[in-house]
Amino acid sequence: MARPRLAILTSGGDAPGMNAAIRAATLVALAHNATVLGVEQGYRGLINGDFRPLEAHDVVELVRAGGTALGTARCPEFRERAVRDVARRRLRDARIDHVLVIGGNGSLAGAHALGDPHEQLEDWPVRVIGLPASIDNDVGTTSLAIGVDTAMNTIVEACDRIADTATAHHRTFIVEVMGRDCGYLAMAAGIGAGANLVLFREAGLALDGLVDAVCDTVAQAARRPNHRALILKSEGVEVPVEQLKAAVNARLAAAGEDAIEAELRVTVLGHVVRGGRPSALDRLMASRLAHAGVLALLDGAGDQMVAWQPGRPPARATRTAVDPRCWLVPLADVLAETQALHDGTSPQAQWRVKVFDALEGVLNRG
Ligand code: ADP
Repeated sequence: MARPRLAILTSGGDAPGMNAAIRAATLVALAHNATVLGVEQGYRGLINGDFRPLEAHDVVELVRAGGTALGTARCPEFRERAVRDVARRRLRDARIDHVLVIGGNGSLAGAHALGDPHEQLEDWPVRVIGLPASIDNDVGTTSLAIGVDTAMNTIVEACDRIADTATAHHRTFIVEVMGRDCGYLAMAAGIGAGANLVLFREAGLALDGLVDAVCDTVAQAARRPNHRALILKSEGVEVPVEQLKAAVNARLAAAGEDAIEAELRVTVLGHVVRGGRPSALDRLMASRLAHAGVLALLDGAGDQMVAWQPGRPPARATRTAVDPRCWLVPLADVLAETQALHDGTSPQAQWRVKVFDALEGVLNRG
């Protein structure tokens, strides 16, 4: 039997732990007698045929590295069938019949399209499996995506530092974090950082509601011995942070006396949250997802994502043979659930907000 040839690519926004997934996928595939090729720069490299062989010595040190050693790129033209067919011919020319895609919801949509059984070349069908990697935790059907834990730790550490200066100066800080379509990072890190208020898109507040919430928090801070407050804002909240700051400061100034004392400060963490060494949990989870994903691929699976689910499995999921936390979910279901997470109709999105509200309500009484 011919030796299987497996390509690995990372795509979309980079996330800490992608390298741990590349490393584990390579080592597992080599151990199962496959030839492994790394694709440079995501789907762009697939179209250009930028493949390079990966051996154990190329990947062993990757476990601790942030970013992605294969590079990543946005490649909007991959949405076109004709362009995907170019990629399929490149795969055929390189005799690659298995592809592992590591990325966020856009990348997984690309994986679904690439592995679509109706689009395969007659003489060279390929099978594709996806692994969820996105610091926003906005991929449906998985409880966590690769990168979320590290990003959360980075935010909590930054907030701890900011809390020191906020306390020293009796100030209120708004810290803005990533999360375009999903407020999970702000909510989860807000609990971890002991934030006094978390503003996230799913709460649906417009400017007036946001200003009320921030001003209430500032007023509560004034009554506490440390006189300071920490507010986390998700970038998905439609009001830009500087506009919110100006509106709050105007309201505080109009209220008079302690306005200068109370004046808000803003820190936007931005891309700082993407980088850095992956946490132990991200390394472990990435390795387990990659292990389960490669074995499933070599065993004949395709058009699925490996989800990390310690709890109730998603509908139509099948447990992987090797890992009780890793479930194979059809990519079509992943994409539908991701859409529902974004538009708020997903029970998981509603459950997240409910748990957060209940917990925050109690924690913020102090
Ligand atoms: P992420 O994977 O982090 O969500 P993007 O949304 O930018 O990042 O998607 C990464 C890449 O995935 C895109 O540049 C494109 O190449 C591919 N992609 C996204 N959506 C689709 C789609 N509907 N069909 C095919 N490819 C897609």
